[in-house]
Amino acid sequence: MNIPMVDLRSQYHSLKNEIDTALLEALEETHFILGPNVQAFEQEAADYLGVKHAIGVASGTDALLLSLDAAGIGQGDEVITTAFTFIATAEAISYLGAKPVFVDIDPYTLNIDLNQVERAINNKTRAIIPVHIFGQPVDMETLVQLANANNLCIVEDCAQSFGAHINSKMTGSFGTFGAFSFFPSKNLGCFGDGGLITTNDDKHANELRVLRNHGSRERYHHNVIGYNSRLDELQAVILRIKLKHINEYNQNRRRVAHHYSKALADTDIQLPHEDGKGLHVYHQYTLLHEKRDKIMDALLKNDIACAIYYPIPLHRQDVFLKTYKNISLPVAESVSEKCFSLPIYPELENQTIDIITDIIKGAL
Ligand SMILES: *Cc1c(COP(=O)(O)O)cnc(C)c1O
Repeated sequence: MNIPMVDLRSQYHSLKNEIDTALLEALEETHFILGPNVQAFEQEAADYLGVKHAIGVASGTDALLLSLDAAGIGQGDEVITTAFTFIATAEAISYLGAKPVFVDIDPYTLNIDLNQVERAINNKTRAIIPVHIFGQPVDMETLVQLANANNLCIVEDCAQSFGAHINSKMTGSFGTFGAFSFFPSKNLGCFGDGGLITTNDDKHANELRVLRNHGSRERYHHNVIGYNSRLDELQAVILRIKLKHINEYNQNRRRVAHHYSKALADTDIQLPHEDGKGLHVYHQYTLLHEKRDKIMDALLKNDIACAIYYPIPLHRQDVFLKTYKNISLPVAESVSEKCFSLPIYPELENQTIDIITDIIKGAL
């Protein structure tokens, strides 16, 4: 039995007629840059996410970068974020000449530890990037209070949390900005790269529309150094179709996660911990165990994919080693040595999950 981490083909096949037809129409239309589908998707996404503005950009990384740029972050500024995330979160800070300040995580939710965020704030701090890691919302009510008290901007990294919410308020609607990725394997994924920025601030929304389009408000008039970072029209076609199904996809991710957790409840594996505050949409199903290598070997021998997100916390990555050699973040370091993720996608069937959990139990 060959089980991949994600199965993009079955999702495509379930929507094939609709997607193929809509793509062919867009090809005939030939309005490829900032065309009608990008505009419509921005409105539909803003409505779904409960925000005033949604601005399509070329990737999740650019969504973070342009948000920080619009917030005026630059040389000499510090931006607090988690050490346990994908590199893009920190890259966006570094591109602008600002300094990522890494803090440790909660050992159960694996999200940024808000007490440590508070301790890391100083007079150079300008912004905080919380990452809703693996799809579980950070406690945004507490974080927003902390940010407001210290006059800091929040850019939510929502790359893994499309559709996750706290009491029906969506991730991406709490901060000054929300940054989303539509990389194919994300909860809402397109067929290439794509990203989105959300904001309720009219002025920032206008700035972002200028920034993503070469700093141009009027064609061939440029008042700031901008970017070539627009959401692609063909990707927008696909996203509009998939957006209609995102609740069902996320519900199925939760079904898969809960089925795994039920089957593994009587083991000594640390299961994903839902903090009871927000709705976890399980971008990843991530476990912790001392003998992770042994478990992963058993799965791989049976053609069942598994992966480590993330094997090295950011302050220990080669690219950052020199700057951060004197800091230690014990929880992130220990989690990186014990974590591993199992296949998860909406189409994964319970019977298959049972096979996977039997192999894991056999390996223990
Ligand atoms: C995927 C991801 C990104 C980057 O998104 P891209 O669209 O690949 O640029 C940023 N942050 C996190 C946490 C991610 O998982």
